[in-house]
Amino acid sequence: MDYPEKLVIEPTTRCNFKCDMCVKQSPGCDIPEGDIDDAVFSMCDSLFPQVSSVVFTGIGEPLLHPNLETYLSGAENRMPEGSVRGFQTNGKLLTPQRAVSLLEFGMNQICISVDTVQPDMFDRVRQGGRLSDINQAFDALERARKRVPNRPLQVGIECVLMKKNVSQLPLLVDWAAEREVDFIIVTHLTAYKKAVEDQIAYLNNSQDAYEMFESLKQKADLKGLDITRYDKILWKVNKSEKEIDIYNQVAAFKDAALKKDLYVNLFHLLTEVPGEYDRLCRVFDRAEEKAKAHGIKIKLPGIRPLAHRRCPFMEEKVMFVSRQGDVSPCYFLWHQYTQMRAGYTKYIRPTVFGNIRQTPPEKIWQNTAYRSFREKVLKYDYPNCHAWCETRCDYVLDDPFYQDCFINDIPCADCHWNLGLLNCLI
Ligand code: SF4
Ligand code: SF4
Ligand code: SF4
Repeated sequence: MDYPEKLVIEPTTRCNFKCDMCVKQSPGCDIPEGDIDDAVFSMCDSLFPQVSSVVFTGIGEPLLHPNLETYLSGAENRMPEGSVRGFQTNGKLLTPQRAVSLLEFGMNQICISVDTVQPDMFDRVRQGGRLSDINQAFDALERARKRVPNRPLQVGIECVLMKKNVSQLPLLVDWAAEREVDFIIVTHLTAYKKAVEDQIAYLNNSQDAYEMFESLKQKADLKGLDITRYDKILWKVNKSEKEIDIYNQVAAFKDAALKKDLYVNLFHLLTEVPGEYDRLCRVFDRAEEKAKAHGIKIKLPGIRPLAHRRCPFMEEKVMFVSRQGDVSPCYFLWHQYTQMRAGYTKYIRPTVFGNIRQTPPEKIWQNTAYRSFREKVLKYDYPNCHAWCETRCDYVLDDPFYQDCFINDIPCADCHWNLGLLNCLI
């Protein structure tokens, strides 16, 4: 019988912070605030013996749920040996007493959000929190580990990378090492509102496309052609001889890329800041070296999107259960909100395959619609809006989404999770 291997359960959609990068800041966000109730949680019982990890995290602060400990222990009692029970937290409510009780009741993994070690920047980005609160949270964990030594605990931090904090990443690794952190998850920013779109730090081209374009540029340079003028001459009616040559060179380049199954986005290629990739590589390499020296596991996102997409949630057989009991396939599709795409507003509505109040979760996992959704996602046979299109067509901006330009009914063509740019605790 087929079962999910990992479970993400949303304890609450309430939060004591108002972070700049939170999905709750998106203008189209419709995530009513409330907690999961015990009846919804207990419906997950049948899955616990089957899964290797349960992450008690949603769009809210898990420590606000008064029964979190009960849920942890309920899961622990039914899960196989070696399984993981953890959650992502902003850390503000992690007192020494709470840290001990969480550990005693079955938590063996905790991940605290820390994007910067600069107190001013932290306070601005994570509104409602202060870096000093986070220091106290780590102190509480250190003491709890000592008080309950027979309960092993993996402590992590999650960092959202933005242009303004990217260069601090190696420092953050040192900071984490001082607090005996075991793992670091780094993810790029998702632009839930226009005001933060310019903080996205990843580059838009795949490495293969960029290298191929650089080689075209060099060859064109030798012929005295400035390929970077392509976007200016593209729609010119009367092109000069040189401009026709540029046009033809780019057309041949696009054909050659297509033959290699490599999709190129000229707008992205023309706007990449020279040297930026090397600069980001140096920051990531330094962070990795430091993590290795400190014995910390670090998971970094791509600096560039993957040329061959991979959906972490489908590949790792993750099931998402919202606080109301709705079952969704992934982080991208479990709530209603908006995201920015190439300057446009994209509306995302939840994809739901059933509600565990009415149907046992394993039956939902095995139902035809959910199975067929997973199969389609894993074929990766859908367009790649980010790689191919400078703008977004009505297909992917339509609300609700119903199909892409290949007539697929799954909304994966314009998702950034499958591009290797985003990471989370799963
Ligand atoms: S702590 Fe998490 S849920 Fe709360 S506002 Fe920040 S990003 Fe959103
Ligand atoms: S769905 Fe629209 S935006 Fe996406 S690749 Fe197709 S035409 Fe481009
Ligand atoms: S929308 Fe993205 S994250 Fe969700 S199933 Fe599709 S590829 Fe995976």
